[in-house]
Amino acid sequence: MVNLEKSLAGIRHEIRRPSGRYVVENFDASQAEEIIGRLKKVFGVHTLSLGYKVRADLDAIYEVVKMIAPRDGTFKVETNRADKNFPLNSMQMNAEIGGRLLADIPALKVDVKHPQKVLSIDIRENGDALVFGDFVKGAGGMPTGTAGRGTLLLSGGIDSPVAGYMVAKRGMTIEGVHFHSYPYTNLQAREKVEELAEILSSYTGELHLHIVSVTHIQEAIHKYCPAEMMVTLLRRFMMRIAERISERVGSQCIITGESLGQVASQTIEGMTSSNAVVENLPVLRPLVGFDKTEIIEIARKIGTYDTSVLPYEDCCTVFLPKHPLIKPDLAKVEEAEKKLDIGALLEEALSSEEEVVFGK
Ligand code: ATP
Ligand code: MG
Repeated sequence: MVNLEKSLAGIRHEIRRPSGRYVVENFDASQAEEIIGRLKKVFGVHTLSLGYKVRADLDAIYEVVKMIAPRDGTFKVETNRADKNFPLNSMQMNAEIGGRLLADIPALKVDVKHPQKVLSIDIRENGDALVFGDFVKGAGGMPTGTAGRGTLLLSGGIDSPVAGYMVAKRGMTIEGVHFHSYPYTNLQAREKVEELAEILSSYTGELHLHIVSVTHIQEAIHKYCPAEMMVTLLRRFMMRIAERISERVGSQCIITGESLGQVASQTIEGMTSSNAVVENLPVLRPLVGFDKTEIIEIARKIGTYDTSVLPYEDCCTVFLPKHPLIKPDLAKVEEAEKKLDIGALLEEALSSEEEVVFGK
């Protein structure tokens, strides 16, 4: 209920909870579409429907049913009677309303097993009735806030916003971390990520994005370590920073958009190398078994795709070697890293952190 309230911030409405469903009412009819659009993004809502409120009176109910009934095809009427004093019981109501519809709209047929349209009537205890036509699919999943907190490594790409969506859908609250290499990456790249965070927040509610510069880390790796290890080593720094931020904000895991075999660095060896520096948290990779086409399909559905494909550079593409290590050997990676003052680089990166809040 709190999540529903939050999603409708700024729109006049009331929410009630009569038996087994939520009813949003007393809103301006002109805002119905906006309200449905927002509610469709609330995790934990599996179906929703625009209903009409009328007096619990047979003729008044029928008038609305007739208005929203299809003009042909098959239907059935389904009545739910909370008010047991209503003169007709549910079965009688179904028969009565169905009979009137058949008489008034000759091209309609009843099909109780597989109707093309279900017309639902909810007779409430307070003298009102609700009439519903189409049920639309909601976002599904579990309500936000019921599955702990995770730190999402959010790049400007297609995958990580989808990874965040997947865990958020299961009820996890998300904290975002983005790394940039300004001035090697430009400000538009940052705006792109902020836009992605904004879109994600329309599902997750308030989302904090921690923006951290890894410019000096990349420069140091570039200067002191083998070129082919850039991505591997940078990934390890990202993980360390994400864990430090997680500890501070109370996140219980780190989430990435990696998918096995998608690009050269996304191998089990690459994942082993980056997991090795995370001391206390599990690393979740919700897309590990997804094909790119499947990820794109979700990105389109949730509205992040068009932003993700904007052509700005990510820090991972800066100093990108011609032949990145595909299967990094952990011992060699650790050896190469000895050339760096890891502690100092981490502190310096963390001191650049900025926090931007979305979806408040
Ligand atoms: P994406 O589409 O999410 O950018 P990708 O296919 O480009 O993924 P990589 O560049 O290998 O893959 O990145 C793998 C994962 O590492 C990303 O999904 C993301 O979780 C994280 N990551 C990469 N770059 C950044 C960044 N600049 N800031 C935060 N996280 C990042
Ligand atoms: Mg990327």
